[in-house]
Amino acid sequence: MSPKTPIYEGKAKKLFEGPEPGTLIQHFKDDATAFNAKKKGTIAGKGIINNKISEFLMTRLNDMGIPTHFIRGLNMREQLVRAVDIVPLEVIIRNYEGEALGSPLIEFCLKDDRLGDPFIAEDHVFAFGIAAPEELDEIRHYALRINDFLSGLFYGHGIRLIDLKLEFGRFYEGETEIIVLADEISPDTCRLWDIVTNDKLDKDRFRRDLGGEAEAYQEVARRLGLTPEDEPEVLN
Ligand code: ADP
Ligand code: MG
Repeated sequence: MSPKTPIYEGKAKKLFEGPEPGTLIQHFKDDATAFNAKKKGTIAGKGIINNKISEFLMTRLNDMGIPTHFIRGLNMREQLVRAVDIVPLEVIIRNYEGEALGSPLIEFCLKDDRLGDPFIAEDHVFAFGIAAPEELDEIRHYALRINDFLSGLFYGHGIRLIDLKLEFGRFYEGETEIIVLADEISPDTCRLWDIVTNDKLDKDRFRRDLGGEAEAYQEVARRLGLTPEDEPEVLN
């Protein structure tokens, strides 16, 4: 169980100090926000599902040699992650804008709720010291690999990855700076459409009052084989 006082409480997650130095416990809440937190609500069971989905996807990315903050799952709502300095950018990768894009588009937004996460040009990223050119190159490289991998993985489960938002962080191993994928990958941070019906299986259901958001999140977990009923029954 996590200690009582979070060191940070965000819109969808809480962070607690981890059991070892350099670690954090990431706790996934059911709280949902949209439009820069002007719209607030909850999606029943979302925290449990997002914790599972993010663990599943980050484990696979780690396995492919893409470094992530994920260390191990702790319980239904919590995972142990490496504490990193978040690069305050929302890295957005788009595969569709009305139609399939020949190659994915990457854009950067400054992660700053007070300013409403505005679009930021690369020159401003460098000028304000938000990230160095080499760091941004590495982030772009990882973002494209992650996007390709996730696009294929979701496609195999009948889901189109329309776009997604990633966050990266840095930590030091001795003198060496390492950039890793942080935060979460879930229906909160991806646009996921059913390949056949184009039904939205993501937070747009909440944003646009479409209803059925809890069921949509559940459906993504089910397709990925992550819900208990998908597990083979074990007879003792
Ligand atoms: P927010 O409302 O700020 O987006 P969230 O509810 O998403 O917050 O909670 C997670 C917060 O923790 C985010 O601010 C995110 O940038 C940060 N974060 C994610 N992973 C890590 C990590 N490994 N180390 C430190 N901070 C992290
Ligand atoms: Mg967040």
